[in-house]
Amino acid sequence: MALVLHFDSDGFTCPRFQCDLCHCLIDDAATALILWDHYPSSHPDSSTDYRIVCSVCEQQRDAVLYEQFPFSMELDTALAYLLHNSGMNPKALKWAQQKAAVLGVV
Ligand SMILES: [Zn+2]
Repeated sequence: MALVLHFDSDGFTCPRFQCDLCHCLIDDAATALILWDHYPSSHPDSSTDYRIVCSVCEQQRDAVLYEQFPFSMELDTALAYLLHNSGMNPKALKWAQQKAAVLGVV
């Protein structure tokens, strides 16, 4: 399960991505990948199985994993699609950007 609710040492709970292979928490979406198993056009209006992998696991290129999930996208690009497909308008995206900047300071 790549999206987890993480409890930190201060008791704060927040959603985080976790590598499906080594289970480390992903701190940099630009270096992680989302992998999936087939062309979207082969099954219109359906979903597909996927895996999230960290940069370390991505560099190790597990042959079985990449045979099962041959398609990939950087996680930060996938997140941009997710925000767009979740109905985030430019105003909501600006608010999210400001909120993320505050979280980075804390
Ligand atoms: Zn990993």
